[in-house]
Amino acid sequence: MAAADKPDLELAARFPDLHPPFDHQSALTEANRCLYCFDAPCTAACPTHIDVPRFIKKIAQGNLRGSALTILDANILGASCSRVCPVDVLCEGSCVYHHFNKQPIEIGRLQRHAMDAFLHDGAQLPKNSVADRPGKVACIGAGPASLACAARLRQQGFSVTLFERRPLPGGLNTYGVAEYKLRASDSLREIEMIRGLGVEFRFGEEISPAKLVRLERDYDFIFLGVGLGAMHKLGIPGEDHPAVMNALEFIERYKTGAAANVGRRVVVIGAGNTAIDAARAAIRLGADNVQILYRRGKEHISAFTFEYDQAREEGVEFRWWTRPVAIHTYGATIATIECVSSEPVGFTANADLLAAPGPTTSQSLRIPCDLAIPAIGQSPLVAFLESCRGVGVEHGRVQIDRATGQTTNPKYFAGGDCVNGGREVVDAVADGKRSAVALARILEAAHA
Ligand code: SF4
Repeated sequence: MAAADKPDLELAARFPDLHPPFDHQSALTEANRCLYCFDAPCTAACPTHIDVPRFIKKIAQGNLRGSALTILDANILGASCSRVCPVDVLCEGSCVYHHFNKQPIEIGRLQRHAMDAFLHDGAQLPKNSVADRPGKVACIGAGPASLACAARLRQQGFSVTLFERRPLPGGLNTYGVAEYKLRASDSLREIEMIRGLGVEFRFGEEISPAKLVRLERDYDFIFLGVGLGAMHKLGIPGEDHPAVMNALEFIERYKTGAAANVGRRVVVIGAGNTAIDAARAAIRLGADNVQILYRRGKEHISAFTFEYDQAREEGVEFRWWTRPVAIHTYGATIATIECVSSEPVGFTANADLLAAPGPTTSQSLRIPCDLAIPAIGQSPLVAFLESCRGVGVEHGRVQIDRATGQTTNPKYFAGGDCVNGGREVVDAVADGKRSAVALARILEAAHA
């Protein structure tokens, strides 16, 4: 991703914005629709509690910088969140206009409008404390949780160093979000603003147990924002063939121009939001037929309903109750994916499949395919987490104090996907902010 700080024009043409930016007049018109509700439900619905009516009012008053600063005060990744947040189920989903059967305020696009103007002007983030203060924190990982933690601490004058094993910061924001939602160049532009605070980044840093011991010695606290590990394997014959590429690898490769040729027929296995992102990308890359296979029914998918609806509208086909059992290959290509389709007879959405599986109709089928994209979730970084001595981990998730993010080892705090198992960018930002607030309080008291 060598030139990731610059937009790729060909990629941009294939992946136009899902929610195009407002022009100035449209933003003003939309901002003036807002009722500026007292106890605004949109603010309550935002995990970072952005003061939505306040930032919208500032747009209506023509104060875009003030609007952006209101957003950034609550959410340091306000620019990327304006693009990737599932606003339909968060702020916009709670807008009072729904009660009047009217279109909710387009909060995400208004947020983007303010943030784009701020970043375009090269504006700097405010530092709440001009003087540097004693207190050093190491953040492991440079994804949204660590970035939010680091920025907030740095704004308070504390020293923060991010250790990242990859060559670029941003985690999934840079490497794993569908291009029609967030470009790598936009993710990196936002992070430059955080770097401008004086946050130190160290790339290519794998954290071994020996290095962890050194970090424990050299820093007052360690924040774990390591996310999740590799994607789960299917565990079926043929999945190591080169024409089988997991969804995160596929998204990263097409974002760098390395996987532009997807063939005519693409099969995605899994029905979460990442699976849908991969399927919709395959259509934009020229596939004629894109199918999603899911081992259970429509009622059980983890993807948001609006993502599913949009994928259907774009032509993605769904095969429910269908489980791959082998990938048959022929030289450099896939021939077919062999599947078993077993739909429960008389199944209803409320039935408990595990408690009462009931009879099924079962058939075997072979689906022709040029590219197979498994997307069945990521595994936790168990080995690494276990090397963090005294940090409690249950079912692959770091155990924390919900009020502070502190782990069972008081030297360590944690947030983001390694705690919640994989949620939204905005949840990771909220976690990082929570820990930064707690850490600043502890550091202040320690050095008073
Ligand atoms: Fe504006 Fe809707 Fe939020 Fe009310 S709920 S403040 S109308 S965006």
